[in-house]
Amino acid sequence: MRTDVVVVGAGIQGASVAFRLALSGRKVVVLERSIPGAEASSAAGGILSPGVEAIEPGPFYALCRASLARYPGFVREVEARSGLAVSFRSLGTLEVAFDDDHAHLLAGRAEKLERAGLPVQVLDEAAVRTLEPGLSREARGALFFADEASLDPRLLARAVYVAAARAGATFLTGDVRRIRTEGGRAAGVEHAAGRIDADAVVLAAGSWSLLVEGNGLSPGAVRPVRGQIAVVDTRPPLLSRVVFSGHGYVVPRPDGRILCGSTMEDVGWEKAVTAGGLRHVLDVAIEIAPSLAQAPVVETWSNFRPASPDGEPILGEGTIPGLFYATGHTRNGILLAPITADAIAAAVTGAPPPVDLAPFSPARLASLIGPR
Ligand SMILES: Cc1cc2nc3c(=O)[nH]c(=O)nc-3n(C[C@H](O)[C@H](O)[C@H](O)COP(=O)(O)OP(=O)(O)OC[C@H]3O[C@@H](n4cnc5c(N)ncnc54)[C@H](O)[C@@H]3O)c2cc1C
Repeated sequence: MRTDVVVVGAGIQGASVAFRLALSGRKVVVLERSIPGAEASSAAGGILSPGVEAIEPGPFYALCRASLARYPGFVREVEARSGLAVSFRSLGTLEVAFDDDHAHLLAGRAEKLERAGLPVQVLDEAAVRTLEPGLSREARGALFFADEASLDPRLLARAVYVAAARAGATFLTGDVRRIRTEGGRAAGVEHAAGRIDADAVVLAAGSWSLLVEGNGLSPGAVRPVRGQIAVVDTRPPLLSRVVFSGHGYVVPRPDGRILCGSTMEDVGWEKAVTAGGLRHVLDVAIEIAPSLAQAPVVETWSNFRPASPDGEPILGEGTIPGLFYATGHTRNGILLAPITADAIAAAVTGAPPPVDLAPFSPARLASLIGPR
C-alpha cells in the first residue's frame, strides 16, 4: 500500500493532524492499534488553560495562547463536518488560593502576566464567591483567566476522528512496529499485518511513542505519567467554571457532573484507579467546594499523559527527514490540538509555519536528557 502521509496513532493529535492534511488534499492513512481516541485523549479533563498550565510568559505560553485562539474556529469546523457537538464552553478558569503562601505566589504571577500584557484578573474573596457561589468560604482570592474554556474530550476525540474520516483520511487498525527509512529519509511504516509506503510519517503515538522502532527520539523523550480522575454528580449543578487549587482541579460539565483531578504518577503503564489516587482527587475537590463531600461518585478512570522532560510538546521534524513529531504534549494535549494540527500539517506540506517550532523541536531534549 502507498500513500502520501502515514500517521501513527489516532489520539487527538493523530486525528487532528490527519484532519488538516486531508483537508489540504493529501492522501493520509492513520494507523491505530486500538480504538481511535480511547486512550489519554478520552481521559483528559478538557481544560483549555494557558494561564494556569503555562504559568509564565514565554514560547510555551505563546503556543498555548495561539491554540486557545484557534479553538472556537476549530470546534465550529469539527462540529460542522462531524455533526457531533463537543460541549465547548468559554466561561474562564479560576485559580483559587486557600492559604497565604499560595495567595502570595498568585500575586507574583499576576504581576508578571500583567507586565507582559497577558490577560489576567485578580479577584478578592467576595468577587470569587459572586462568580462561583458554590466555592469554599476559605477561598482567599483568585486569579481569573476570563477568556479560557473547557470541553468534553471524549466528545472531541470522537468528533475529530469522524471529521477527519469524512474529510478523506483513512483510519486502519494496525499496531505500528517500525518506522522505515530509505536513503536516510522516512519512507513508511511496518505494522503487525503489513507495510505502508509513504513520503512522510507523523509519530503521534502518545505515551507509547518510544516503543515504535526507528522513532529517532532520545531515550526518555516521552514517558507515561498516570493521571486519575473521579467524577461526582451535583444536582442542580454546583459550579460552572474550571477551578484549580494549588493541588488539583475540578472541571464542571453543563449537566452537573464534576470531574475531580488529577494525580501525576510515574508508574509505567499500570492502568489503575487506586485508593490513594481517589483520596487525593476527592480531597482536592472537597477543599475547593466542601459540599461535594455529599455528592455521589459516579465514575472513575486513569490514563497516561505523554510526558516530555520539560512538559512541553515535541513538534516538527527531527534528525530524520520526512519523520514529523506530534507527541509529548504532557498535561496540555487537548489545549494544544488545534495548533499542533496546523503546525504539523504545514511542516509536512512545506507551507509557512503558523508559529516558530524551534523551541519545541526534539533537538532541545538533548540538553535536558543527554544525547541518544
Ligand atoms: C487524567 C488526565 C487529565 C488530563 N487533562 C487534560 C486537560 O484538562 N487539558 C489538556 O489539554 N490535556 C489534558 N490531559 C493531557 C491530554 O490528554 C494528552 O496530552 C493528549 O490526550 C495526548 O494526545 P495523544 O494523541 O498524543 O495521545 P493518546 O490519546 O494517548 O493517543 C495515542 C494513540 O496512539 C495509539 N498508539 C500507540 N502506539 C501505537 C502503535 N505502535 N501503533 C498504532 N497506534 C499506536 C494509542 O492506542 C493511542 O490511541 C490529561 C491527561 C490525563 C491522563
